[in-house]
Amino acid sequence: MVGRKTAQIAIHIKVQHEPDSMSTSHVILGDGIAGSSAAETIRESDADADITVVTEEGEALYNRILIKEFAKGKLPEAPVSIHEPGWYDERDIDLQLNTHVTGVDTDAKEVHTYDSGTIEYDKLLIATGGTPVQLPVENGDAEGIHQFWTFPDAREIRENAADAETGVVVGAGLLGIDLAAICGAQGVDAKYLMRGNRWWRYALSLDGAEIIHDALEDIGVEPVFESGLDHFEVDEGGHVESVVDSNGEAHPADFVGIAVGLDYNTEFLQGSAVEFEDGIFTDEHMRTNVEDIYAAGDITRYHDVILDDRTQNGAWGSAKEQGVTAGKNMAADEPTATFRYVPSYSITHFDFPFLSFGHPTIGDDHAERKYSDSEWRRLTFKDGKLVGGVLIGDLSQQSTFKKIIRQERPVGDQTDLLLEEDVDLDSLAAPAAE
Ligand SMILES: Cc1cc2nc3c(=O)[nH]c(=O)nc-3n(C[C@H](O)[C@H](O)[C@H](O)COP(=O)(O)OP(=O)(O)OC[C@H]3O[C@@H](n4cnc5c(N)ncnc54)[C@H](O)[C@@H]3O)c2cc1C
Repeated sequence: MVGRKTAQIAIHIKVQHEPDSMSTSHVILGDGIAGSSAAETIRESDADADITVVTEEGEALYNRILIKEFAKGKLPEAPVSIHEPGWYDERDIDLQLNTHVTGVDTDAKEVHTYDSGTIEYDKLLIATGGTPVQLPVENGDAEGIHQFWTFPDAREIRENAADAETGVVVGAGLLGIDLAAICGAQGVDAKYLMRGNRWWRYALSLDGAEIIHDALEDIGVEPVFESGLDHFEVDEGGHVESVVDSNGEAHPADFVGIAVGLDYNTEFLQGSAVEFEDGIFTDEHMRTNVEDIYAAGDITRYHDVILDDRTQNGAWGSAKEQGVTAGKNMAADEPTATFRYVPSYSITHFDFPFLSFGHPTIGDDHAERKYSDSEWRRLTFKDGKLVGGVLIGDLSQQSTFKKIIRQERPVGDQTDLLLEEDVDLDSLAAPAAE
């Protein structure tokens, strides 16, 4: 695979894709769930369209959500794949693997690739997602240090974790906990370094986080609070040996997992007319500021019609839905579909369920309650409306809360009713919209 950071020069060796002049040429950058769903949707709407999907990965779409289970050693490879071999051919979708996009010329309507020439488009979808942030710390490129985004990452993590005795995980969020759970499942004696006094402090109070901390301890992972990464120490062979934390303490580790956020893959848009900053700006139809160019999935900073604000989301379900929305609108002459969706993200590593829904890290107010040692609920409000939350232990009210968000009900002053174990929609203030 060509490195994203180094491949800057587009080689214009040929016009590789020559569309049929009668049909619309749709080019999709990225074969993740957003790009693939868009391709499928376009084909369902337009039997004659030329559809090209370009990805720098060496394999077709797979289930990114399941690669953690693979890395734990629990799943064989096959269930992680999504499409049967032949899926793209059957739909007459031209899938170009191992193709790194280096630039987009919005005037000439061309995509430039590192080594596969130039691809012309009538309509373009950018669905290139993100890449894990690399921390610029001493020995940060030592062997045994893992970031986690792709299936090749998962294969390496699975193999390395299986051989490791000690581990350290950095990044107290939804991806970091996957790495911690992999350590637990693979029998690695691990420390989990966290800033502050708790896991995912932007969405959980200490009451909720303590349930997670206990569960981590139960799988053999020890949370270390008020900590963080300073640098790595390596052995003579260049393999990581220990992690020195921000307090100067060294934790032995022959396996390290880092998950401290994403850099969005917009490098190839530098100098183009497409507006982006920590993601590509789109409207609710997944259109960018440039005509005939759309974006979908993790890469977007989209206009959320429920929040009436620009926001961002990194979840499988919303990436898929955005791909479908973009695909419908690309296939139509006018935007026919609007992205109006309440995302959710679940964690299944423990013997109780966990779900975050909506946008639990934004808002100006919140309410929460602990129901038992493994049941807790937190709801987040903005301008008096529910915008998100976290459920631990009991997910039975998730559809009710998502409905309340979609309905834009003014419920901020009715937290007692919302924190009852079973929420009665009829007893709440009337909806503003559905
Ligand atoms: C380990 C892990 C666990 C997760 N667990 C969950 C979960 O439990 N629940 C949940 O909702 N979400 C989960 N997610 C997040 C979810 O997988 C993402 O939100 C979703 O996959 C985003 O899809 P996407 O299509 O927008 O981007 P991606 O899946 O990132 O796809 C983007 C594609 O574009 C390609 N690309 C990037 N730049 C270029 C370029 N210059 N040229 C060519 N190709 C390029 C990339 O290689 C990639 O194939 C998890 C993610 C990971 C990594």
